[in-house]
Amino acid sequence: MPSEFTGKHVTVAGLGVSGVPAAKVLHGLGAHVTVVNDGDDERARTQAAELEALGVTVRLGDGDTLPEGTELIVTAPGWKPTKPLFTAAGQAGVPVWGDVELAWRLRGPDAAPWLAVTGTNGKTTTVQMLASILKAAGLRTAAVGNIGVSLLDAVTGDTEYDVLAVELSSYQLHWAPSLRAHSAAVLNLAPDHLDWHGSMEAYAADKGRIYEGNRVACVYNVDATDKPSTEDLVRAADVEEGCRAIGFTLGTPGPSQLGVVEGLLVDRAFVEDRQKNAQELAEVSDVNPPAPHNIANALAAAGLARAFGVSAAAVRDGLRAFTPDAHRIAHVADVDGVAYVDDSKATNTHATEASLAAYESIVWIAGGLAKGATFDELVAGAAKRLRGAVLIGADRALIREALARHAPEVPVVDLDRTDTGAMLQAVQEARRLARPGDTVLLAPACASMDMFTNYNQRGDAFAQAVRELGA
Ligand code: ADP
Repeated sequence: MPSEFTGKHVTVAGLGVSGVPAAKVLHGLGAHVTVVNDGDDERARTQAAELEALGVTVRLGDGDTLPEGTELIVTAPGWKPTKPLFTAAGQAGVPVWGDVELAWRLRGPDAAPWLAVTGTNGKTTTVQMLASILKAAGLRTAAVGNIGVSLLDAVTGDTEYDVLAVELSSYQLHWAPSLRAHSAAVLNLAPDHLDWHGSMEAYAADKGRIYEGNRVACVYNVDATDKPSTEDLVRAADVEEGCRAIGFTLGTPGPSQLGVVEGLLVDRAFVEDRQKNAQELAEVSDVNPPAPHNIANALAAAGLARAFGVSAAAVRDGLRAFTPDAHRIAHVADVDGVAYVDDSKATNTHATEASLAAYESIVWIAGGLAKGATFDELVAGAAKRLRGAVLIGADRALIREALARHAPEVPVVDLDRTDTGAMLQAVQEARRLARPGDTVLLAPACASMDMFTNYNQRGDAFAQAVRELGA
């Protein structure tokens, strides 16, 4: 069947997770596809051979030259807007779409609406909670997007959905100009990926795109008041007539908000007469784990689900059925009255701040690759809760210095080793510092690649070390 892509010259920028499926789909729709890729390694060659066998042209080792005749670029989301390829495209008047834009354009006429989530931290958790709630309501749904399941597969595959729970990164939003979600949430906004976006303003503006054209609800974080706040982003968006701004807060909710009252998650937005009424949704203890930032995630997910008309009972059942992915505040074991918790996924200071806020008395295991972060604010905010700290990894001196400035009385063990046994020693040192009732928390505030393959391996090493303590 002819489509708007039939005979069109489309350049796919970047092989890999999004590029290969995009090239295949566009080729299948009759486009003349050329893939350009910076790298020319073995993996790229294997992928290129697979595409070339289908009739797709692939140029390896040159991601910056715009192929002649290009009418549209579909880019991998991570490609920086300042790349020469895009400058050339701008000069030639060639539009640039990301993988999300392509998926959005390829939806069928009766396609499932999107409930979209972005934010600096908590996206994956919230989208999974949302999918769990939607499933509990009997809806056919999936958690898709920046989360492992490709949006392109979800919109072009044979599975039918009633609604999709979509995780979107700031990069994907940058390249998705015509996306119009049913409803969307920005969970929080802290400086991240600024080298890519160019400035905090540009990063916030890309995140804010998620609200453009929303039909039912723009869900924002009442408690996040740094500028620009997520509420500012809602105000800046052009939405459909009648679309509502819905806040979520860990405090008592005002009208048009979801919040917490006496251990209950309550909805004062999607109820009749919201000036006077509120609807109980779930107990705080239904949220797993019931740490403050995760309750905020649950409220955001509930807000989106309620905007889609889901019942209060389904919100409760969905939250109860949800189990978080590994390495996100995972309780590993109790040893001698001390809890050991793995939040290896806390790879930046904002995530670690949330994790440190969840416990009263902490022996903190931190360090790794700082990626340009500073730790003063984080340490100053958490100083009261720290029983001690054990530092690992390449950039641990930055954290040590921040501790010396803001928490000089907190005992610090600085582990000057990066071999595979370092985590075991870190856990042993943490045990020595901890007292019954404390939590030993791995929340590194840093990336893991100086010592580990990824944060999963770092978390596994922690869990293994804890098991050895208990043995
Ligand atoms: P993302 O998909 O945005 O990376 P995840 O759900 O995978 O988010 O969580 C990443 C990290 O951020 C975890 O370490 C978690 O403890 C922390 N986190 C989760 N939700 C929040 C939140 N609402 N605010 C701050 N940190 C959070």
